[in-house]
Amino acid sequence: MPYLAPAGTPVTISDVLHGISRAARGDEVAGALVDTLSRLSGLPRAWPVSSGRAAMTVILRAMRRTATDRERDEVIVPAYTCYSVPAAIKRAGLKPRLVDIDPATLSPDVGLLAEADYTHVLAVVSSNLYGLPNDLPAIESICRERGVWFLDDAAQALGASIAGRPAGAFGDAGLYSFDKGKIISTMQGGAIVSGAHALASEIASETGAMPSTTLAESVANVAKLAIYSVFLRPALYGIVRALPFTGLGHTVYDTRFPITRLSPPLTAVAARLLARLDALAASRHRNAAALRSALRVLPGIDVVDPLPGAVPAYARFPLRVPHARRASLIAALVRAGIGATASYPHALADVPEVRARLPANQPDTPAARAVAAAIVTLPTHAYCPPDFAGRVRDAVIACVD
Ligand SMILES: *Cc1c(COP(=O)(O)O)cnc(C)c1O
Repeated sequence: MPYLAPAGTPVTISDVLHGISRAARGDEVAGALVDTLSRLSGLPRAWPVSSGRAAMTVILRAMRRTATDRERDEVIVPAYTCYSVPAAIKRAGLKPRLVDIDPATLSPDVGLLAEADYTHVLAVVSSNLYGLPNDLPAIESICRERGVWFLDDAAQALGASIAGRPAGAFGDAGLYSFDKGKIISTMQGGAIVSGAHALASEIASETGAMPSTTLAESVANVAKLAIYSVFLRPALYGIVRALPFTGLGHTVYDTRFPITRLSPPLTAVAARLLARLDALAASRHRNAAALRSALRVLPGIDVVDPLPGAVPAYARFPLRVPHARRASLIAALVRAGIGATASYPHALADVPEVRARLPANQPDTPAARAVAAAIVTLPTHAYCPPDFAGRVRDAVIACVD
């Protein structure tokens, strides 16, 4: 039976061949991607790198070296976000401090953020989960008042905006990811964006010293991308998702990721996918709007609403359901061929590797825990068929009865 992957971007074989054909012109393709990222973010500087977590590690190291107070070693992160975020913080030699989230919007709770203990804080990181912009203007002004850096993590929010400004472009530096579940996907990859300031020079020297990918790695990247481009199709995804060795859908805390430049073929593919961003965004918006009107009237379903003034990118469509109903609801959707997921299984405070590194005066984060127990994400990508929202609604209703 056809199966809609939980997230993804259609990549064609022609995109992959384009990447291969341009791979020898590494500097030229990198320049083209940098120009596109600058245009999208409105920021003058951009650097393609091997992943979003590599981008975060590089930015945090540069922030530490550029900080006036070198003793500051804590990074405030939303208490429910991707586990790669605390992993990158560890890799940068820093420690996480959690701020609880607003369960209705998934944004860091700005009241709690304003009251946090900043004694040892170097930087604050946003999450913009599922492509819904956090309250970035408020986070930015709190960071300015407190004199700490703000890293706008738009790994899932390429193309989103709030108050007329792109996600990723708030604060001092931002990042995007091109990994499997993100807005565009080259299987792995990411980018840093920033303004032109002292921090940017430090980021430039970090990225300048980065190793390039080897030819063998580039070949492996292209092979993986070719497989992805074929198997993301609904007709075939149902087969791969059943294979245990793919690791699909598993969330891991791993600090041993490579930190290199983005390989030339993937750089070329990323630039080509970004040229289609408007069309990709339009189909995500259509699917999200259809899901919203189909689901918001159903009892027991809380659709997560964007903040006022936000234009989400909808990497996925998030909703909250009572925990007792969640497993059966997801099972019903999966039986209907729809890649519904429970997203990250735990709040960061309940991830043992993170918990062990939290400060002694870390407040509890009950809202993040409640969201981890209640969240469901639905696909929004361009492979979703026109009757998709109706099928989701029918599966949800059948499950309640
Ligand atoms: C995916 C993700 C990252 C890390 O990006 P990778 O390219 O997978 O390393 C960072 N932050 C958030 C919020 C993410 O979703």
